[in-house]
Amino acid sequence: MILPGHVAAASLVSKALGVDLRAALAVSMVPDLIDKPVRWLFRLTPNDRIPAHTLLGWALTSAVAGLLGGRRFAAGWVAGYGSHLLCDEVNAHLNPGRIYFWWPFKRYTMHIGPTGLQSSLNDFRPASVALEVGLTLVALAVWGREYSRRRQGGQCGPG
Ligand SMILES: [Zn+2]
Repeated sequence: MILPGHVAAASLVSKALGVDLRAALAVSMVPDLIDKPVRWLFRLTPNDRIPAHTLLGWALTSAVAGLLGGRRFAAGWVAGYGSHLLCDEVNAHLNPGRIYFWWPFKRYTMHIGPTGLQSSLNDFRPASVALEVGLTLVALAVWGREYSRRRQGGQCGPG
């Protein structure tokens, strides 16, 4: 999954769970912002889904989010990060599998690659694109309705 799907998923999870939207949105791309440069630019890992696309990355960054931002922010962080991992896990079943959730505690035979945005996008199958577009449209509908409801509420407010 790429930017629109991850942002959409984080916003929907935030709304469904009633957690901090800003935290969920802030973290929605963090696993990619860590793992892609580590693999694509520095070639330090065999795969672009470690170390941040793991339970360890989720737990460590959530602990830091809690220390720096407090409990409410951390709850949004946990939800947004989790939505990212869940989306990528779903996509891993539609594309060459590349989620190593238990790394480094479990040994995996890792899929080598990709090493850039283009090669990553080449992995996208039509089902992934449909999922991305569908999720984004659902989020737009949900948040559009929310925006519309708030606007109507504002117009009918005091005065
Ligand atoms: Zn990712």
